[in-house]
Amino acid sequence: MFRSEVYRVPQEKTNVSAPHDDEGDYYCDMCDEGGWDSETELEIHRQYIHTDILCNLLNNKNKIVCFTCKREQPDRKTLYNHIKEEHLLSSKNAVRVEREIYICDYCCHIFFNKLLLASHIQRKHWPKTTKRIIECPKCLKMVTPQFLYGHAEMHQLQSISLCPICLEKCINRSDLAVHLRSHMKHYYCNICQYSTKRENYYQTHINHHKKYKVPYQGDFARYYIPVKGVLKKKFLTPFPIKGLPLWNNVHICILCREICLSRHKMQLHVSEHIEPKVTLRKRHVCVCGEEFFNNVLLKHHVFKLKGSHSALDEEYITINVPMKSQDVYVIPQ
Ligand SMILES: [Zn+2]
Ligand SMILES: [Zn+2]
Ligand SMILES: [Zn+2]
Ligand SMILES: [Zn+2]
Ligand SMILES: [Zn+2]
Ligand SMILES: [Zn+2]
Ligand SMILES: [Zn+2]
Repeated sequence: MFRSEVYRVPQEKTNVSAPHDDEGDYYCDMCDEGGWDSETELEIHRQYIHTDILCNLLNNKNKIVCFTCKREQPDRKTLYNHIKEEHLLSSKNAVRVEREIYICDYCCHIFFNKLLLASHIQRKHWPKTTKRIIECPKCLKMVTPQFLYGHAEMHQLQSISLCPICLEKCINRSDLAVHLRSHMKHYYCNICQYSTKRENYYQTHINHHKKYKVPYQGDFARYYIPVKGVLKKKFLTPFPIKGLPLWNNVHICILCREICLSRHKMQLHVSEHIEPKVTLRKRHVCVCGEEFFNNVLLKHHVFKLKGSHSALDEEYITINVPMKSQDVYVIPQ
């Protein structure tokens, strides 16, 4: 008798949570305090009690630190892999953000959930004098701003391990990392509307776009999400409900979500959108008018039909990819 065995595909290890014991008590990595039963409380402790140390760390030119979560990284490569994976919810070699993003028109924070952005705008940016009733991004109930805080508490929306995409509360950030795998990646090219389900196809496709060596000379700042450079004493804890501000020289194109790690790279990238793309391509056409995908197919066609069929002289076409002015990523106020 054969006994069927189930082999589990080993999952990639995820250990992005703060140090904690088996009972789920979290400990601070900066002092001896511990015993918090949530990572959220620990994060608040870390950022409010250790403000001065963290401030010094962020201002220390010799250290490489992720400004979003205020944690030191061994080198630049690890830092950018970390930002792409942990904060942009994409793979570490992502060329573009592999999720749909929604950008706040007022503060430029990035959201991964449209309703969360809508409620953020109502809460944060609408004048306090107007009578406001805000839609809960989780249950869609209409609540007044005074009640929203308590209401959000009920859904545990103010948690650091909240899924920024579907707003489900996970146990901790390691659990969140596992949960995020259940959300399909957004492999969509805004430049040419190409879409796929496979990461490697997407990467190959995007690499075809990288052709510009001349930086765009015009005003390119409006094509990317502003990067924050000044450090404030009062930190913004990296809670999904607050959206994600950009630091560490990470530039993201608002038209296609391309990640550029310097202003200059962003400037080069913008050329892809602005300059008309002219590509010369050889066509494989028979004198009978039929066109083939490649020369082998054309030769086969000519060989098979003989007679009056023969390959037409080389012919070239130009492809123009029109520039799209604005995309759906920014919700108008
Ligand atoms: Zn501490
Ligand atoms: Zn970080
Ligand atoms: Zn905002
Ligand atoms: Zn609700
Ligand atoms: Zn989710
Ligand atoms: Zn494309
Ligand atoms: Zn772009």
